[in-house]
Amino acid sequence: MATADSYDYLFKVLLVGDSAVGKSCLLMRFTADRFDEVTTSTIGVDFRVKYLNLGGRRVKLTVWDTAGQERFRTLTSSYYRGAQGIIFVYDVTRRETFEDLERIWMKEVDIYSNIEDAVKMVVANKVDLASTRAVSTEEGHAFARDNGCLYVETSAKVNIAVGQAFEELVQKILETP
Ligand code: GDP
Repeated sequence: MATADSYDYLFKVLLVGDSAVGKSCLLMRFTADRFDEVTTSTIGVDFRVKYLNLGGRRVKLTVWDTAGQERFRTLTSSYYRGAQGIIFVYDVTRRETFEDLERIWMKEVDIYSNIEDAVKMVVANKVDLASTRAVSTEEGHAFARDNGCLYVETSAKVNIAVGQAFEELVQKILETP
């Protein structure tokens, strides 16, 4: 286990996507292994730190959350600057959040051309809500593939594949020259 201030790599990873898709919950689950049913968005951008050890490589990961700013479309270049990884999150029970990835979030990320080399991942969250699912695995997977993104299905609520998603992303960042 890596400890504070001993690391070989420092990476910045961003969470983007519509409001209420579960970005804050994913971040809490990943960094503190907690799930708070009620989350209140704070003002401004929030980030949390997580230390990982992947095959002996110690990584200090800062994961940035929009903290509700996405509702106002006020994410700025400083949010995106220097990111090695970008996680596009949608809610599998709300189809519009999936469509907004293409309609809004991929376009917004493209504007910040300095991060075109960042590793991208699509995360299909809330898969615990299987009975009200509105976007299939096949569709999510195809969208990710067509846009050069990794694809992982998660539940922040019951903790399905949350750590796996972040670790897969970091692994890909480590492999990227
Ligand atoms: P954000 O606005 O994207 O940061 O979304 P939040 O993390 O605040 O989550 C929005 C709502 O979705 C909250 O009511 C959470 O409790 C709920 N939520 C988040 N992740 C999951 C999940 O994996 N499954 C279920 N069932 N609910 C979730």
